[in-house]
Amino acid sequence: MQTVIYSGPMEIKKITLHSDTSGQEFSLRVLYFQCSGSAPSVYIQAALHAHEMPGMVALDRLIPRLVKAESEGRLSGNVTLVPHANPIGLAQGVHGETLGRFDLNGRINFNRSFPTKMAKELSGRPAAERLKATLIEIAVNADVVLDLHCDDEGPVYLYVSEHQLGEGRRLAHAMQARVILTDASDDPISFDLAVGGRWTAENRVEDTRFAATIELRGMMDVTPDLAQQDSDGLYRYLVDLGTIVDVLPDIDPDDPIVGDVDSAELIPSPVPGALLYDVNVGDWVKKGQRLAVVMSEPGEKNQEILSPFDGQIMTRRDRRFVRRGDDVIKVLRHPLP
Ligand SMILES: [Zn+2]
Repeated sequence: MQTVIYSGPMEIKKITLHSDTSGQEFSLRVLYFQCSGSAPSVYIQAALHAHEMPGMVALDRLIPRLVKAESEGRLSGNVTLVPHANPIGLAQGVHGETLGRFDLNGRINFNRSFPTKMAKELSGRPAAERLKATLIEIAVNADVVLDLHCDDEGPVYLYVSEHQLGEGRRLAHAMQARVILTDASDDPISFDLAVGGRWTAENRVEDTRFAATIELRGMMDVTPDLAQQDSDGLYRYLVDLGTIVDVLPDIDPDDPIVGDVDSAELIPSPVPGALLYDVNVGDWVKKGQRLAVVMSEPGEKNQEILSPFDGQIMTRRDRRFVRRGDDVIKVLRHPLP
């Protein structure tokens, strides 16, 4: 069910999703900025992993600029925003923690296993499936789809399909992303790949179509300055696309490092314990260099975590306790500069 709850320069619709239990329902808030222009239309969602806040706060900063562009007649393509894409995950508070990455009932990652059916065909299926189908149905109408996430601790980086690297570079330039990871496979399938799959299935693949995941640093990187910086990046990309008409000063960021997803390796800890890092996100490291130690028993020798190759530290874990087999750090294989 859709309800229009505001109609001004932008239109806000509320989509109701019935819960899987009696007595409650979820709603999805969708913001539409519409015009008669023919520039690429853009869909941006945040917080599909419900507790990842950097994207949501960036959209909060972007919205007034879209309202202004629309009211000044500078909108040349439609923009659709879903600032909180996952009301189900947001409600999953367990013992003081919000667990927004996996559906607690279905045990599936909210950014995996997207249904190929339409939401109306899934009326008897769990809410998480209907939510995923609904998001895809809104997103596939756009030419450009951006899914905003964040890591535990990391830089701004992108996931794009291998064949869309050219457009990925343009997005990376606007967002000042440090790394682009390309994916040639469709498995496991994330939101951006699922949207691409639907475009292919519906024979809607055109040159303008582009879908990407943007990782906006780490879970703790939620500050006014970073929200503004990410909003600036999204706005710049909308201007680059021609979706918004504006003139911005040139920026000259470094070229991003490009690698395929398999060139970024997560290193697990063979022992449980306290995690003490020797390196930071962005550091260059040599093969065999110590990246961290895991202290299992005070007074005993620590377990060393060594780099398997030359490269750059991409991401670190945000908690400092590891269980045996937990991932500790992600290193991107790359020749040292
Ligand atoms: Zn995420």
